[in-house]
Amino acid sequence: MDEDKARDAIQDPPTDAPPRTQIRESLPALVLVSTPIGNLQDLSDRARDVLSGVNVILCEDTRTSAVLLRAHGITQKCIALHEHNEEAALPRLVGAMREGQRFALISDAGTPLVSDPGYRLVRAAIEAGLSVSGVPGPNAAVLALTLSGLPPQPFLFSGFVPPKSGARRAALAKLRGAELSGLNATHVFYEAPHRLGEFLHDAEAVFGPRPAAVCRELTKHFEEVRRGTLAELAAHYAAVAARGEIVVVIGPADDSEAGAESLDESLRIALAGMSVKDAAAAVAAATGLPKKQVYKRALELAGQG
Ligand code: SAM
Repeated sequence: MDEDKARDAIQDPPTDAPPRTQIRESLPALVLVSTPIGNLQDLSDRARDVLSGVNVILCEDTRTSAVLLRAHGITQKCIALHEHNEEAALPRLVGAMREGQRFALISDAGTPLVSDPGYRLVRAAIEAGLSVSGVPGPNAAVLALTLSGLPPQPFLFSGFVPPKSGARRAALAKLRGAELSGLNATHVFYEAPHRLGEFLHDAEAVFGPRPAAVCRELTKHFEEVRRGTLAELAAHYAAVAARGEIVVVIGPADDSEAGAESLDESLRIALAGMSVKDAAAAVAAATGLPKKQVYKRALELAGQG
């Protein structure tokens, strides 16, 4: 849907539909409803009831959601809310909620807000003192985490990293810098299939030898979980083009890693994503070396010493 059409659609929240079910009486102003990530049967009974009970379903793309809603016999009015019109739509949506309209928010797949639109709407509803609730359900990140065979907690979900290699390496280096400061979490990323090979290559360069998993097409016919080291997975996807939707899970830093790395290696990784001051502080904390010594070396490596 083009931006203008989407904006028009959102200008016009319907006020006609009277409550159809008992459920509507007890619904909060806004319900975040998780929908399937590939298998249409993964819509819960409560999700179906809530979607059938609200006045309006807000969705990213009306055509995509129509497939799911039709399959479950849900006929509620659906209007588009996406990153291009969300901000502009807030006053009207909050106004309609204040007048008693009940809304459900869904995304194209999975849990709304998770690498999907809706955060600004939730903030606006909370700030307006409106009730917000949710129907939990599918989420690709959590399913991948549980299937990866890697430690499930703590985990750090970073969604999509930047698509260009320089910015991607900087984003990964920032996470590595956080590990040098003590973060010890399994990492979860979303990635597009045509960038998977490059992503794994950069991840291997930044994180070093780590166990990881590439989880593809979860809940769908061609579901696959490929486990291996980052180097093995990078080599595989350098040779084989990946297809479909993908979550990458990377194991946490080995506790002994920080100590095993030389000061220069640790600093170089930290400097790729942090200021000299922050990088020096992180590495000093992780290695126990004197701050002054680490800062001096960081300045030298950054060409400022
Ligand atoms: N809100 C969704 C959720 O709760 O998982 C995520 C939306 S995000 C725009 C879409 C990305 O999620 C895809 O590019 C992919 O990285 C991941 N994803 C969604 N469905 C997936 C699936 N069935 N298998 C693997 N990854 C999936």
